[in-house]
Amino acid sequence: MSTKPLVYDQLNRPLRDLRISVTDRCNFRCRYCMPEETFGPDYEFLPKTSLLQFEEITRLARLFVNLGVEKIRLTGGEPLLRRDLDVLVGMLSKIDGLEDIALTTNASLLKKHAVKLKNAGLTRVNVSLDAIHDDTFGKMNGRGTKIKPVLDGIQAASDAGLDVKINMVVQNGINDHEVIPMAKYFRHSGHIVRFIEYMDVGNSNGWKFDHVMSKRDIIDRISEIYPLDSVDPAYYGEVASRYQFRDGGGEIGVISSVSDSFCSSCTRARLSADGALYTCLFASRGTSLRNPMRNGATDQELQKMLTDLWNGRHDRYSDERTEETVANREKIEMSFIGG
Ligand code: SAM
Ligand code: SF4
Ligand code: SF4
Repeated sequence: MSTKPLVYDQLNRPLRDLRISVTDRCNFRCRYCMPEETFGPDYEFLPKTSLLQFEEITRLARLFVNLGVEKIRLTGGEPLLRRDLDVLVGMLSKIDGLEDIALTTNASLLKKHAVKLKNAGLTRVNVSLDAIHDDTFGKMNGRGTKIKPVLDGIQAASDAGLDVKINMVVQNGINDHEVIPMAKYFRHSGHIVRFIEYMDVGNSNGWKFDHVMSKRDIIDRISEIYPLDSVDPAYYGEVASRYQFRDGGGEIGVISSVSDSFCSSCTRARLSADGALYTCLFASRGTSLRNPMRNGATDQELQKMLTDLWNGRHDRYSDERTEETVANREKIEMSFIGG
């Protein structure tokens, strides 16, 4: 059953999705997200007391669902580093009106957790995997981790009955040579690979326009080997453009946040691990919900805050991206608010 959206923003976009970061820590150091130079041994992550507790996350999630949110995605940092994540999934799954609980993970620890998560009520997993060969993957993840634990995690999640999609961020000259091998590996596997344009999130990855392999280039490259036909979106606000292999090998997606942005249908709010609400991936700052909550705010007061924040939203960063915004806008790091 679909909850009627109750709040709209300044651009008439309903609040539909909530991404919750459960930790700002990660066991990888992907160069495009948490480069070792910035996130080295002395980097100060959030202290435990700053993190939202499961009860606090669940309370806020329920208020978001009251306002029309239907899907929640748990992310990070690496969400599987948060102890007892399945307990949180179990708590969220009891919220009336919430239709879908998904997880975005690097899957290095997924094998151990897949069954528990599924039993707790998780429905879907997006696994980030930027190459199918160990050498490139080890360089991308900054830790030399091989692909085997990730593939084991994918298999375990699939065996547990979870819907699994694979996300590959494509960077020109870094891992674009892995586009065809990834398409080839996951054809006929039942898992959709979504190729993601590299974005200028945060301020630490040294992003430049020419590091982006555009949707057009990705599609052209794959079609040369495996002809593709485009497919209609499955629902309003779907971020990936969908394509099918003409020979029946399955489906792929491309997320074109840079070359063909989709802010006009963006229905996503983000909650950081320390309980601040961000209304855009490229926001400079968020608004703490944790502080009023810990200072005794009632559900009505918190819900009013959420409504006011969403009503006031006019973010459309990707639609407005220029050399100037890339160079000068102060942006929150993606590992802090989650992808
Ligand atoms: N650690 C988990 C993972 O990697 O799946 C969850 C958090 S991660 C920040 C969420 C997603 O953001 C991943 O799919 C990652 O590849 C993507 N991501 C991070 N930095 C990005 C960037 N600069 N451009 C595009 N996607 C990015
Ligand atoms: Fe960690 Fe995910 Fe960022 Fe890679 S993309 S550093 S796995 S949070
Ligand atoms: Fe949504 Fe901001 Fe991304 Fe646009 S740039 S799609 S508003 S998160």
